[in-house]
Amino acid sequence: MSEATASVAVQRLTADRVFSALETSPAGLTQSEAEARQARQGKNLIQTEKRRSPVLAFLSNFTHLMACLLWAAGAIAFVAGLPELGVAVWLVNVINGCFSFWQEYRAGKATDALKKMLPSYASVIRDGQEQKILAEDLVPGDVMLLAEGDKISADARVVRANDLQVNQSTLTGESNPVRKTADAVLEEDLTQAETPNLLFAGTSVSEGTGRAVVTRIGMDTEFGKIAHLTQNMEEAESPLQQQLNRTTRQITVFAACMGVGFFLLDQLFVGSEFAAAFIFSLGMVVAFIPEGLLPTVTLSLAMAVQRMSKRNALVKKLNSVETLGSTSVICTDKTGTLTQNEMTVNHLWTVGSEYEVTGVGYAPEGEVRAAGHRIQAIYDDDLRLLVSGGALCSNARLIAPEEEGGRYTVLGDPTEACLLVSAQKAGLDPAELEASCPRVRELPFESRRKRMTTIHQLSEPLEGARRVAFVKGAPSEIVRLSTRCRAYEKTVEMTDELHERIRAANDAYAADGLRVLAVAYRPLRTDDESVPRAMSAYTPENIERDLVFVGLEVMQDPPRPEVAAAVEQCRRAGIRVIMITGDYGLTAVSIARRIGIVRGEHPRVVSGVELERMSDAELREILGGEVVFSRMAPEQKLRVVENLQQMGEIVAVTGDGVNDSPALKKADIGVAMGVTGTDVAKEAADMVLTDDNFASIVHAIEEGRAVYANIRKFMLYILNSNMPEAVPSAVYLLSGGAVPLPLTTMQILTIDLGTDMLPALGLGCEAPEADVMDRPPRDPKEPLLTAKLMRKAFLGYGLMGAVVSMAAYVFAQVEAGWLPGLPMFGVGTDADPVYVRATTMCLAAIVFAQIGQVLNCRTETASVFSRGLLSNRHINVGIVFEVCLIVFITLFPPFQQVFHTSPLGLFDYVFLCCLPPLVLAVEEGRKAVFRLVRRRRANRAGAEER
Ligand code: ATP
Repeated sequence: MSEATASVAVQRLTADRVFSALETSPAGLTQSEAEARQARQGKNLIQTEKRRSPVLAFLSNFTHLMACLLWAAGAIAFVAGLPELGVAVWLVNVINGCFSFWQEYRAGKATDALKKMLPSYASVIRDGQEQKILAEDLVPGDVMLLAEGDKISADARVVRANDLQVNQSTLTGESNPVRKTADAVLEEDLTQAETPNLLFAGTSVSEGTGRAVVTRIGMDTEFGKIAHLTQNMEEAESPLQQQLNRTTRQITVFAACMGVGFFLLDQLFVGSEFAAAFIFSLGMVVAFIPEGLLPTVTLSLAMAVQRMSKRNALVKKLNSVETLGSTSVICTDKTGTLTQNEMTVNHLWTVGSEYEVTGVGYAPEGEVRAAGHRIQAIYDDDLRLLVSGGALCSNARLIAPEEEGGRYTVLGDPTEACLLVSAQKAGLDPAELEASCPRVRELPFESRRKRMTTIHQLSEPLEGARRVAFVKGAPSEIVRLSTRCRAYEKTVEMTDELHERIRAANDAYAADGLRVLAVAYRPLRTDDESVPRAMSAYTPENIERDLVFVGLEVMQDPPRPEVAAAVEQCRRAGIRVIMITGDYGLTAVSIARRIGIVRGEHPRVVSGVELERMSDAELREILGGEVVFSRMAPEQKLRVVENLQQMGEIVAVTGDGVNDSPALKKADIGVAMGVTGTDVAKEAADMVLTDDNFASIVHAIEEGRAVYANIRKFMLYILNSNMPEAVPSAVYLLSGGAVPLPLTTMQILTIDLGTDMLPALGLGCEAPEADVMDRPPRDPKEPLLTAKLMRKAFLGYGLMGAVVSMAAYVFAQVEAGWLPGLPMFGVGTDADPVYVRATTMCLAAIVFAQIGQVLNCRTETASVFSRGLLSNRHINVGIVFEVCLIVFITLFPPFQQVFHTSPLGLFDYVFLCCLPPLVLAVEEGRKAVFRLVRRRRANRAGAEER
């Protein structure tokens, strides 16, 4: 395409001339031409500006409060003439910074990979065929098909519009939809955004359908020109990250105070040399600072997000993972989420007959039977009008399997696709129907109207009209708009009795969980005053009236097989499931009962109309009990969500349409459908389900709960080692130096960075515990670091480690001949070989006890053996690493000097090897007692209830 054509003022041309100006046609480009244009003009991509430079990201790991403190401490060590210590502290800082950067990098990679899993698509016509292509493959000249909720991915000129309205807020900031038309625009003084026949990349279709020819792509689009303005938005920190940041800062300050306190106490009561006291206080500071906590949390969130994506839930922000963990109510729609969305018409109903339709799925194999005989539509006028009306008023397409024995699939709405199948089973060919009665206009389906209309030009007049409107939709709506009815192959006036018969038939099907759609028509006679002359003036108000009711198409949409178990899991997990559907009450309750959402005899069924009349107080009262919302308009979801939130619930809500966006945004977790959802809903949501399946929401909640539990587990592990690191120093202080410092500063650093890091990371990767969905949702206000967790870390696990490490120290002293009453080895000189061995034992004991502790941390109350003691590969690697490290630094002389260690004997290792089982046995005993008490309590409560 020439450059000149790109700059043609396409808005001034008539729709027909737009095609030639852009060197394309209503049948679209050919595939080869599209490829040639892409080779010339490139892909339709907005180049993203580089985010924060990696160098800056790397450096930021060395400039936060904790790091600054360590830089300063190292510098003081140099000034004080302790270069070894200075180097060690700085090394700690460097290792920690690199480690954090690496974790952030991996977390970033994980979330970037996720973004790629949510590609944008566009529907186009190429080679005369409707196709779904990647939005990045659009080229100028492509004919785009537009439907409600579609994101527009390139600048384009409208060539056909059916009530087309577009939300241009990304460009103009104005969120009211703007009407778009296909007519030429000759006004000069309109801005681009004001021009009614131009569409822009980055905007979305809020109503209607249409076609448009792409004029500009990528950075040439209006959006591309302003893209740099919107790209600098940083992802906000999650509440968990904020909480952790705050906690880390608090602990850092606390550690610094402890260090200064210990230094002063030492100078007052022990009177060590200044240098020794400084080294030792510095050790305290480093011991208590929880290095690596924040990046480890970020990484575990990112890993959880990756695991969720494998279970069909794409979480768009790390924040959502924690919210998922505390979700207490799921508001879900029915069709496609709880049910399979594989519609099959199994009954047809007219006032005169009831027909059975055989065959399942979209394969046009089966027949229509009445009273046991096959019926062809050409011999039954009412049946012919019913199935042909349904098929003509459908935008779906059936795709035949490519290989023999394959399944038929559909392009478009399954509710519409099954109407094509029923027509075929009745002996009609939808393609021939379309050819003989071409569609001239469409009034697209809207959830609010619950119906859709197509207008066709007929070759044979129907009731004296050459143009007819076929309307299909919710039976109550269609009946309400019908003044006449087909009965026994005649058109008769609609009466109350007929009304009642239709309602009874509808209810009988709906009570069996079947979905019912009514079909009607209206002859648009030229002498009818109420029919507008110009087709562009056709609106739902002036077309969808005075209808002739034809009959019902009854379809089955069975529940997804895995949903009942997922609903039961929610019940155990204290999560309520509320169905909010656009479908009929009886159908909704029948399905809800089948999958266990309602159990009571008389659940409350609230229709959209009833809700409209209800006050918020009444609604909240109803929300306290078992309730199903039926015939709801998408906008009404928002009200339910708001009221649940006011009741203190954390709400997840599902949605797929444009009008679901406010509810999706308002909910704590907005869940969009990946397959049937519109682009607009996906954009508004926090999570996208790639299989549209309710069970995937429950899996995601399970992962959300697990990740939170894992973060607690590694906090417990990291914090608990502070005690055995601090107690030896406290003993030294309190004994006034009579117990020589059992653990040197370099040894504390070894534990903190050398041996604690990897197993802690392993804890972040623990799979969910079996009972994670047997507990009530977490209170979102509960802080991460609770008093209970601190007690368990410091007074439980920590104290155990401290006792063990001091025992190892004393063991080494006694082994060399020390007895109570005698001065200990090492008093007055830190070069005493017995003393060096004793500190080595103290260090090794802490490391070995931590092996037991990391296994203890893997479960909260269950026995770790029930999970498989060595089933977490990451932890096993961490354990092997820490044991190797300890052997390494005790065995080789250069390391012995730096770390103040000496080789250990066989007997020492026997002692050390007893520690992990000992630590494990103590905690396993406690967990067993806890479980026993809990079971007894539950039994007692159960007995009392009985
Ligand atoms: P859910 O809200 O659980 O997804 P739903 O598909 O029934 O269920 P909506 O999409 O809001 O909800 O549709 C509301 C009603 O409109 C349907 O129950 C049906 O009667 C009617 N309907 C649905 N799809 C179409 C369509 N393509 N054409 C005409 N009427 C439709």
